[in-house]
Amino acid sequence: MLETLTAEIIAIGSELLASDRTDTNSLWLTEKLNSIGIEVKLKTIVGDDDARLEEAIKDAARRSKIVITTGGLGPTEDDVTRKVAARALGRRLSLNETILEELRQKFLSFGQPMPERNSRQAMVIEDAEVLPNPNGSAPGMFIEHEGAAIVLLPGPPREMRPMFENHVQPRLVSRAGSVKVLRRMLRVAGLGESAVDEKIAPIYTKYENPQTTILFNQSEIEIHLTARGRSETEANTLLDHLSEQLEERLGNAVFSFAGETMEQVVGLKLSVGGYTLAVAESCTGGLIAQRLTDVAGSSKYFIEGVVAYSNEAKTRTLDVKRKLLLAHGAVSAEVAEAMAVGIRKRSGADFGLSVTGIAGPGGGSEEKPVGLVFIALADEVQTKSRKLQIPGDRQLVRWRASQAALDLLRRRLI
Ligand code: ATP
Repeated sequence: MLETLTAEIIAIGSELLASDRTDTNSLWLTEKLNSIGIEVKLKTIVGDDDARLEEAIKDAARRSKIVITTGGLGPTEDDVTRKVAARALGRRLSLNETILEELRQKFLSFGQPMPERNSRQAMVIEDAEVLPNPNGSAPGMFIEHEGAAIVLLPGPPREMRPMFENHVQPRLVSRAGSVKVLRRMLRVAGLGESAVDEKIAPIYTKYENPQTTILFNQSEIEIHLTARGRSETEANTLLDHLSEQLEERLGNAVFSFAGETMEQVVGLKLSVGGYTLAVAESCTGGLIAQRLTDVAGSSKYFIEGVVAYSNEAKTRTLDVKRKLLLAHGAVSAEVAEAMAVGIRKRSGADFGLSVTGIAGPGGGSEEKPVGLVFIALADEVQTKSRKLQIPGDRQLVRWRASQAALDLLRRRLI
């Protein structure tokens, strides 16, 4: 089994615990670390609190081979990272005259004397390598500690990022060796989370590498695969091998292999086949048209979308017969099919796609409950409809109905 180097990140600063601030440094660092084959196992956010921070650094240094902190290296009283990290690692903190002089010069170059409190930024932890900060005053530190690398970086992203790329990444690359980590995502439509897991668990549980995670996202299931290899080719081969087996097991339910959205996949299929499409929507209120037209180049295949909410509009715009509406109600297979036929005829498109349903929270009955949706697809030869009972609130019902309708067309285009 290929050993992967693991890391943890500690974001320091009380402001990061406020409800309106996000610790974006950790997200950026995670991507960078992953790209050089280092896995992030834990992220912590600690306020400007000496005791908590000391505990966090001590624990991290004990369990992880790489510990990266960001923030708290500024000149003010609440910037405690240097002092606390020294204490947690049991090392002295002393003034580095060279850094102090550089700081003085930096301030002078801006035409001002260095405020005395900035001298604390020249305090260096015993045996730490100092990492220069061309975009700010706080230097970073790289400390070899009992087989682990402890890295202290400043908080502002414009200071932290170049420091990591220029001074930390090269050091970590040589530690990580040549392990490459690659990811792939398959998206599945038309099956629930447990149905997907039931089908594919017997396959993916046989593999520790790649690792498989299944996520539920609105109306689709995402299968994330992470592979580690001695080279990108090796990691890719491992991903190919597993994803081929998963695809075979799930069949047409897999609609995306590289993160593409349903509307992109449908758009591409229409485009390649030289087909055109028009949609008639009731309960989705234009969502399908919006999703389709979000894709650049959709004018090539998307003719028009109609939102026919009332019965009267369905009759006037889509030629749905009043008799049909009276006999079956607006939410019925018959009306969905008539809408699909109507929009196809009106637009002259190759395909007419329609949705009618009850998104809720009101409007449901025992016979036709909230979440009941009919979707239909009309082409030159035939018209097909499907009945769905979709769980969830209004937004979710609308989203899932739009996804099911697009999926009906996708399957027709396979
Ligand atoms: P400075 O020399 O600027 O004081 P510092 O290392 O002390 O640097 P902090 O004072 O902790 O950094 O943070 C300065 C600013 O950097 C914050 O106000 C915030 O805008 C940004 N920042 C800090 N930590 C993060 C983080 N984890 N993610 C995103 N931005 C951050």
